[in-house]
Amino acid sequence: DFRKKRERLLALNKEAARFFHARLQAPEGRAGAEYLFGKRKLSRGTVTRFGLGMAPEGWDHLITAMAQKGYEKVELLECGLVVKGQNGRVYDRFRNRVMFPIIDLRGDVIGFGGRVLDDSTPKYLNSPDTPVFNKGRNLFALNIAKKSRLGRIILTEGYMDTISLHQAGFDCAVASLGTALTPEHAQLLSRYTKEAIIAYDGDGAGVSAAQRAIPILEKTGMKVRVLRVKGAKDPDEFLKTYGPEAFAKLLDQSENHIEYRIEQVLGRYDLTDDAQKVEFLKEVVGVIAGLHSPVEREVYGARCAELAGISAEAMGQEVKRELSRRI
Ligand code: ATP
Ligand code: MN
Ligand code: MN
Ligand code: MN
Repeated sequence: DFRKKRERLLALNKEAARFFHARLQAPEGRAGAEYLFGKRKLSRGTVTRFGLGMAPEGWDHLITAMAQKGYEKVELLECGLVVKGQNGRVYDRFRNRVMFPIIDLRGDVIGFGGRVLDDSTPKYLNSPDTPVFNKGRNLFALNIAKKSRLGRIILTEGYMDTISLHQAGFDCAVASLGTALTPEHAQLLSRYTKEAIIAYDGDGAGVSAAQRAIPILEKTGMKVRVLRVKGAKDPDEFLKTYGPEAFAKLLDQSENHIEYRIEQVLGRYDLTDDAQKVEFLKEVVGVIAGLHSPVEREVYGARCAELAGISAEAMGQEVKRELSRRI
């Protein structure tokens, strides 16, 4: 019975995705087609592969279309496709937005993201968690990326970052769904790849999200690297400005998570000042002591020592002391 219910909701989501996708060819969805093909420079192939669509302006386009297919309002409510107002009436949740269906590993449409076509807010709206959708357990485009032969996963913040990467040939990109990366996300990724490359936005929010994601990913045993988007806000804008070859270079230059963390600390201190140099060393000793492998501690400890102009032995002693303090 539970399974039947689930299947019914998934069938409804699929119908809704078809409805949104078909609107791109209809007069009421024209603005969406112009946005995706024109403004965002997506190809037909990309729009089809991701099943992108448009939710037209208006309160009940989807309700009406789904009623014709035999779906009740309560079912639409359960799928999070409609919202119930104060007066008890229901109306379409997604209005005048381009639509991104979220597809799970089995190929079922489990939810949607919708983006406004201009600068109004909220920029993105996602389906709420429902009986078939849990944001903390699903990643956008993993259904495609799991088949990639690139041998790694590129983790981005946004739908458009991931879609642009796929369009540029990086078919291993995924995005978390407007939430922070969870241990379940990381577990899921580690089933499909040994190496995760974090490619979040270059702004402050992206940098701190990357710092939170590193230990979560590392815990699964995956190799973790961090890519820095230079000269653009995010991977999507980078690709538009500099092209796929330039992005491939960024991938090559992406540092392992230890180098990345050391550089983050380095950026906050002026090593020509002795007092700051000491603070730098104290902080970086914490990073080194946190590494699981003695070899990593040795190699990166020596590198930090060199940066600060002290001996590797002195650094090694500090790390040892920190380690014994932690036990
Ligand atoms: P675009 O390129 O379309 O402007 P973006 O992906 O660069 O979008 P960001 O502001 O960098 O947008 O946000 C990253 C991701 O965070 C989005 O793709 C979306 O999944 C999520 N997000 C952004 N704003 C919101 C919001 N208001 N509500 C829920 N999720 C959001
Ligand atoms: Mn961002
Ligand atoms: Mn963007
Ligand atoms: Mn962004």
